[in-house]
Amino acid sequence: MTFDALVIGGSFAGLSAAMQIARGRRRVCVVDAGAPRNRFASASHGFFGQDGEAPLAMIANARAKLLDYPNVRFIQGLAVGAAAEASGGGFSVVLDTGEALRARKLVLACGIVDRLPDGIPGLHERWGRTVLHCPYCHGYEFDGRPLGVLWLGPMSAHQAQLIPEWGPTTLLLNGREAELDGEMRAQLLARGVSLEPAPLAGMEDGGVRLRDGRLIEIAALYLASRTEMASPLAEQLGCEFDAGPFGPVIRTDAFKQTTVAGVYAAGDAARVPHNATFASADGVMAGASVHQALVFGPPV
Ligand SMILES: Cc1cc2nc3c(=O)[nH]c(=O)nc-3n(C[C@H](O)[C@H](O)[C@H](O)COP(=O)(O)OP(=O)(O)OC[C@H]3O[C@@H](n4cnc5c(N)ncnc54)[C@H](O)[C@@H]3O)c2cc1C
Repeated sequence: MTFDALVIGGSFAGLSAAMQIARGRRRVCVVDAGAPRNRFASASHGFFGQDGEAPLAMIANARAKLLDYPNVRFIQGLAVGAAAEASGGGFSVVLDTGEALRARKLVLACGIVDRLPDGIPGLHERWGRTVLHCPYCHGYEFDGRPLGVLWLGPMSAHQAQLIPEWGPTTLLLNGREAELDGEMRAQLLARGVSLEPAPLAGMEDGGVRLRDGRLIEIAALYLASRTEMASPLAEQLGCEFDAGPFGPVIRTDAFKQTTVAGVYAAGDAARVPHNATFASADGVMAGASVHQALVFGPPV
């Protein structure tokens, strides 16, 4: 069977895309590996009407609503290969089980993964709780208590100037003070940011332990993590990428079509900035675009 559309990734972007395609009365299949980027957080914030809900519950609810449509198939699994069919007639996708699927259009909504800095014991396991990247998602909850920003490069200077909106802020330079230029230093001091040059020994529940033994008491540590594609499918298909501020971004047009005709991309993998609302809106655009391409495009 050839689906009208195959959506790889069944989270905020993918389920939003599939909903538009399903409501357009087309046959759509969603493949999802079940590892959304915000699964480390117990609550998601800022999403219209669902502020404070658990991310996995939000996704499960959206999936259940989608599966009310009889023209939807959902596969819990991992897509490992994707290619355009030689005839130009669509796309084939192979799952890790060996199952092969065919579709006229593809939507890549696979998301991204965060690459956290190594060498700071206690940091990785606090990701999504007290180690965070976005104060709009997780900031208000710290109730004005002291906050930290970890220096990872010039982007951290920008982040450290923003964070005082949520609480008194220390920029932890982790032994890399030489990377801070005079202009950045002046801007940070103007925003009331404290600068801590000492290298970090690790994170503890009360804050950040420095190698000289001092504890910097903070409620949360922010960092601008580097990101990578969660899946190699866009690369396999020959999609072009742009260099984003945090990592590569699949290049799309205003209708969320990639540089490969018939392949669309939505969500964190195909945009900056990132949040669940943007991802969902992106998915809606990709889904509606796929539907219209099925209606108005050349027969496939
Ligand atoms: C710690 C943390 C907390 C966050 N908190 C918030 C918040 O409070 N509010 C907010 O708005 N945003 C928040 N975000 C951002 C939010 O998580 C993302 O913007 C959003 O999840 C992006 O949605 P997406 O659908 O593009 O990708 P994702 O949600 O990452 O979903 C991608 C899906 O595709 C699947 N997948 C990947 N590759 C394959 C494959 N090859 N085959 C099958 N399936 C595949 C994955 O398993 C996953 O289920 C947070 C992010 C982090 C890291």
